Amino acid sequence: MRVSRVSAVSLARSVSRGERRSIDLVREALKAAEDLAPLRPLISVVEDAEQQASIVDERLRAGERLALAGVPIVVKDNLNVRGTRTTCGSRALERYVSPYTATAVHRLQAAGAVVIGKANMDEFAMGSSNESSAFGAARNPWDASKVTGGSSGGSAASVAAAMVPVSLGSDTGGSVRQPAAFTGVYGLKPTYGRVSRYGLVAFASSLDQVGPFAAYAEDLATTMDAMAGHDVLDATSLQAPNRFVEALGAGVRGMRFGFVREALGVGNSASVEAALERTRTLLESLGATVGEVSLPTLEYGIAAYYLIATPEASSNLARYDGMVYSRRAAQGGDFNASMSASRAESFGDEVKRRILMGTYALSSGYYDAYYSKAMKVRRLVANDFARAFESFDVLITPTSPFAAFGVGEKSSDPLSMYMADVDTVLVNLAGVPALSVPAGFDERGTRLPVGVQFIAPALADERLISVAHALELATDREFVDARPPVEVASLDA
Ligand code: GLN
Repeated sequence: MRVSRVSAVSLARSVSRGERRSIDLVREALKAAEDLAPLRPLISVVEDAEQQASIVDERLRAGERLALAGVPIVVKDNLNVRGTRTTCGSRALERYVSPYTATAVHRLQAAGAVVIGKANMDEFAMGSSNESSAFGAARNPWDASKVTGGSSGGSAASVAAAMVPVSLGSDTGGSVRQPAAFTGVYGLKPTYGRVSRYGLVAFASSLDQVGPFAAYAEDLATTMDAMAGHDVLDATSLQAPNRFVEALGAGVRGMRFGFVREALGVGNSASVEAALERTRTLLESLGATVGEVSLPTLEYGIAAYYLIATPEASSNLARYDGMVYSRRAAQGGDFNASMSASRAESFGDEVKRRILMGTYALSSGYYDAYYSKAMKVRRLVANDFARAFESFDVLITPTSPFAAFGVGEKSSDPLSMYMADVDTVLVNLAGVPALSVPAGFDERGTRLPVGVQFIAPALADERLISVAHALELATDREFVDARPPVEVASLDA
């Protein structure tokens, strides 16, 4: 099966001109979702998607001008969409139906997008492979024996397989960027606060950000212009003008790029090193200057991240006690017995491991040794970035040290799974924006995409769009236009 890849911007244009109708685009996307079902990119299909599309067609007939007119999208299943199930990839919320819509999603709907599905994800966004999803792991469209990456694996796969041109994920330590790299699409983690978290189910509130996936830089830009910005419903959201579409075409001439020394060489696959090298040559040919920079705290990133993310998670997940929203165990008994039984049968192993780790790190006697020390490291990470940005406009690392790994390859070894995020977690600790750009292929077995990560200072998210767009043009769209050879019929096994 080959679904043709067309940008969201050109789809919106043809719908706005009346050449196509939203309802037809949505029907095509729903058909693609059906064909791709063996890859499990979605946890559920939005039942009233066609109705929503008719409403958009109606709005257009009434003369509204919409940047994403009629464009089908999917959103990660930890983003609330009114009237849809929002499971967070967990049995705990298997039957939870959202009574309201997340701001990020609402703004895209206001711009004309139609949500057709809720994407598969690691349970409560905890994971780097999608394998902790209670509904079965999404598979990589480039090779179904490989993981999609995670935790926003379903959102990445949906764009990679061209079911939809744009999707939303959430990124706490790499969950948008890493699956984007594994599936060959763009994945943006905006500056902390740039996109409202209202309606995003919390994992680690001081690190979580909603971010888009897209195949083309212009789609990322259009999505961010529609979605970013202050929201009275999220006290951590920032006031900043959106200039994403304006940033297209700005080029990289004179921009100073710093390759992060600690992320180069050892530990990276040859294909990732080759992608970095090619990126360096391309940037130089476009008139940018390229150097090297040190982020000494990179080696402490994973340790600090897990000592900050898991305490926040242990607190955020306390609400799933089987009393109000989440699954309640059949077993009766008093409050404690019922709650323990409900949590024991609701959560998977990874979520339980995180709750235990986080509770331990916060407990009296260990707080100073673990949580409070990690918070000090977090400050040092921010200082490292501040220093690096004195001499460079954009920093570069691999998104992941390697291409997609095999399903089951790391699932019994949590530490090696955690290490997959070595290049992405620092960005969340510092709150800065970063973008994974498709930058090459690993050709050792099946052809698999690899990504390069660009990191900008806080609120300079637009700069990342300029970089992506310049590289897209300079490579003649070689990497973004590459499509996986999805042979869905053979995926049933
Ligand atoms: N893989 C990381 C984790 O498991 C990051 C997850 C995320 O960004 N949501 O915590």
